[in-house]
Amino acid sequence: MPDPCNGATPELSVIVPVFNESANLRPLVRRLVPALDCVESFEVIFIDDGSSDDTREVLRALNAEDPRLRAISFSRNFGKEIAIAAGVDAALGRGAVIMDADLQHPPEAIGLFVAKWREGYQNVYAVRQSRETDSPARRWFTKKFYHIFSAFGEIDLPEGAGDFRLLDRVALDALKGLRERARFSKGLYAWIGFKSVGVPFEVAERHSGESKFSYGKLTRFAFDGIVSFTTVPLKVWTYIGTAIAAFALVNAVYYVLEVFIWGVTVPGFASLIVSIMFFAGVQLISLGVLGEYIGRVFAEVKGRPLYVVAERIGAAAGAQAEADDE
Ligand code: UDP
Ligand code: MG
Repeated sequence: MPDPCNGATPELSVIVPVFNESANLRPLVRRLVPALDCVESFEVIFIDDGSSDDTREVLRALNAEDPRLRAISFSRNFGKEIAIAAGVDAALGRGAVIMDADLQHPPEAIGLFVAKWREGYQNVYAVRQSRETDSPARRWFTKKFYHIFSAFGEIDLPEGAGDFRLLDRVALDALKGLRERARFSKGLYAWIGFKSVGVPFEVAERHSGESKFSYGKLTRFAFDGIVSFTTVPLKVWTYIGTAIAAFALVNAVYYVLEVFIWGVTVPGFASLIVSIMFFAGVQLISLGVLGEYIGRVFAEVKGRPLYVVAERIGAAAGAQAEADDE
């Protein structure tokens, strides 16, 4: 089938990060393509994030059947956030939708996004109405994370908004300028600003397979989110240190007075051991916080590319867009 867009700019790009989702790709395409009837022309860019199943073969077959379905295959797993960045780099559309491959994000919602986009909104995000598809433990951690994130309060994350959204070209170009490695996309979407609106949606169950995010991965991601959007954890040690030093000074004065009033006493060592351990712990925590930031500075100054592409499937145009960019 020839490319119906003939290489011209499609109205909408759809960016789909995929990691071992071969069983979900065809069911997704079957629902996604009809849902895209609401736009003049489209392209779908799958980013195969180093899958080890036959995802890449399925993507090749899909592209052979319909050239509007393109793909970029990474040389290894770089993570969903980086996969989204690659999709944003390669997207040619006047706008782009970002969505998961597991059908948790219903393609039918795209029609609602497009309606808002045509009203002039540049950042149309889906707002999940519940988190019932997540485990109770994950829900609890998510809630705590949002509390901590908003307590530092340098940017506001809209409650329940995730990656499922439509971004106008102006927002995509702004995102393309943010080349940080420790990526927390939800924060980046909020940081770029633009005229934004939420559209409610219900998260569906995963079509097939399991979530690719272990608790370990989620914890790392939560750290990335906080550390890349606030320096409060670095600065707070100045205040903690000052408070502890002031307390120590008051104590010193008290002990001196004690000697003058009651003479020399032999205090128990338990309190000494406890305070030594406590303050050693406080110092290690503060060093750890420094380490988190220095580690990130190190990763950024190396200036490595965000990802390495192993293969582009029907993506000559996407490659060109990127080359122009560099
Ligand atoms: N994903 C990815 N790279 C990864 C992990 C996940 O590209 O390292 C993709 C995955 O294939 C899916 C989307 O990101 O399309 C969301 O992943 P998942 O459904 O596992 O996350 P959850 O829905 O549990 O947040
Ligand atoms: Mg999912």
